Amino acid sequence: MDFEHDEQQKMFRAAVREFVDSEVIPKAAQWEDEELFPWDTWNQLAGLGLCSLALPEQYGGGGGGKTLLCIATEELARGSGGLSLAYLVSCGIAMDGICIHGTEAQKRTYVPRCAQGEVAFFALTEPEGGSDIAPMQTRYRSTDQEFVLSGTKTFISNGEESAFGVVFATLNPELGHKGVSAFALEKQTPGVSLGKRERKTGQHCTSTTELVFDECTVPKDALIGEEGQGLIIALESIDKSRVSVAAQALGIAQAAYDEMVRYAKERAAFGKLLGQHQAIQWMIADSATELEIARLLTYRAAWLIDHGDLAIKESAMAKLYASEAAGRICHRAVQVFGGIGYTRDAPVERYARDQRVTEIYEGTSEMQRWAIARQVLGVK
Ligand SMILES: Cc1cc2nc3c(=O)[nH]c(=O)nc-3n(C[C@H](O)[C@H](O)[C@H](O)COP(=O)(O)OP(=O)(O)OC[C@H]3O[C@@H](n4cnc5c(N)ncnc54)[C@H](O)[C@@H]3O)c2cc1C
Repeated sequence: MDFEHDEQQKMFRAAVREFVDSEVIPKAAQWEDEELFPWDTWNQLAGLGLCSLALPEQYGGGGGGKTLLCIATEELARGSGGLSLAYLVSCGIAMDGICIHGTEAQKRTYVPRCAQGEVAFFALTEPEGGSDIAPMQTRYRSTDQEFVLSGTKTFISNGEESAFGVVFATLNPELGHKGVSAFALEKQTPGVSLGKRERKTGQHCTSTTELVFDECTVPKDALIGEEGQGLIIALESIDKSRVSVAAQALGIAQAAYDEMVRYAKERAAFGKLLGQHQAIQWMIADSATELEIARLLTYRAAWLIDHGDLAIKESAMAKLYASEAAGRICHRAVQVFGGIGYTRDAPVERYARDQRVTEIYEGTSEMQRWAIARQVLGVK
């Protein structure tokens, strides 16, 4: 068994880490305070080839696999949770349906644009529910030439920044999962507008908004895959992407852990450094151990995907464990910092806010446990 990244992966991580250390970490707190998307840094990411990393080579992508995408996501999350969310959505889940099920024309249109740094969205969740997506209310109807979409999607990452994306709608809610289709569309299409911008707990530098479709007309060639295949495309995209959220949680946890260790070596109480008190040592030991487990689960799932396995159970385990472990690690980091840990003068409070949602999006922890149990029990 070899648990090491290969030389190419190590070099790749070192390069992304250097970029994050110099271009992300020094600016991330300001992006959060100003709630502004860091376009300059995003364009640098695209220039470095990070946006094209996992996209198919024949359409202008880098042809890299899930492991490289997870390394990039983890390192970006170490610097900025919000930036890493924009990244894993735009360069991951939003492109999966197009890359796997899209027509030749859709791939030729959207893959190069994503690679060059245009931002994409993935619009599935609705106000009525995110975990249970089958009873969808966003409708489409079909004319000779076009599809016409109406309805509201909620909690859409990159809502403001995106140029295009994938949206799911049903022909008729009574058809259940068989009624759902997937469409690729430009956000500027008449009939698409932004609704409410969510006031989130963290990850402020990237927007999360409603997307409203009001008699939005798209050509027939906007359909991804076949009519009625939408829910399969949505679930497949989520299955493929959830290990990226594990990597994101890992990056946030690593940042919190690094700060916790640094502070424990500098701050003194009762005549000795914090790190010499056993209670603090235990928090550090537990965090180091959990970080290691999260990393092994995450890169094992990524490795399996790179070797052709769907890795549904392993990805769910990685996301479940990494996100919840990140929660515990961020909580301890705030504790080790004491009062200052509860202020914006310490980065750990930002990590704690940014981590929380990793237990919620792309399937809550409850949905991960459900997915794991279904796989273990062999239940369809
Ligand atoms: C910052 C942010 C970004 C997001 N980005 C996107 C995006 O880009 N695109 C997109 O489509 N969506 C996005 N989402 C939506 C996200 O995926 C959903 O919020 C998530 O899937 C949960 O759905 P919900 O909020 O409707 O909660 P619900 O589905 O209403 O669940 C509420 C609670 O009930 C639990 N629950 C539900 N069903 C069960 C069950 N059967 N058994 C046990 N417990 C259950 C859930 O685990 C949860 O704890 C985003 C959300 C956030 C907060």
